[in-house]
Amino acid sequence: MRVFLNPGHALGGDPDPGCVNPTCRLRECDLALTYGSLCGKYLEAAGCSVQLLQSHNLYGEAPGFPCVVDAANAWPADVFISIHVNAGGGRGAETFCYDTAGAGGRLARCIQNQLVKSLSPFDAGYKDRGIKAHPSFCVLRHTTMPAVLVETGFIDSADVTLLTQHGDDIARAIARGVTDYANFLASP
Ligand SMILES: [Zn+2]
Repeated sequence: MRVFLNPGHALGGDPDPGCVNPTCRLRECDLALTYGSLCGKYLEAAGCSVQLLQSHNLYGEAPGFPCVVDAANAWPADVFISIHVNAGGGRGAETFCYDTAGAGGRLARCIQNQLVKSLSPFDAGYKDRGIKAHPSFCVLRHTTMPAVLVETGFIDSADVTLLTQHGDDIARAIARGVTDYANFLASP
């Protein structure tokens, strides 16, 4: 399976770091790249082909940067996963897809389930916020394969301990979500 990983926001945070913790200055772009890079290693170990691209240009809006959607569609990837960190003070994980009833919804559910199962034992406050349709997200709208955008936790809540201390668990959970999805496709 060809897996395209898109850590959210601009590489190196320039010009867009995503959300930033107001006290410790932890940045979404850095966390997302950490999770994406680790996740790619686990997926390759599981036999997947992986491309990873973190770029300020999602769908042609910033031509000075490589285009994420074009790269995923041109490969073409079998699945697309955009990795993010939330802000706003909530708790837990949520995973977006174009349509919860489609293959992207299945992929979203696989990843969401693994994240919650992996992280909630460390902190019962880490909530399952569910899978949600969000067809206007351009990486979900314009990719031609099942695609999800996973929000792994909140940078400005007690989730920050999980985000910083359990990045490897987050990466493994996303990878297991992908292999769960692949196993579902392979099952008769
Ligand atoms: Zn983001």
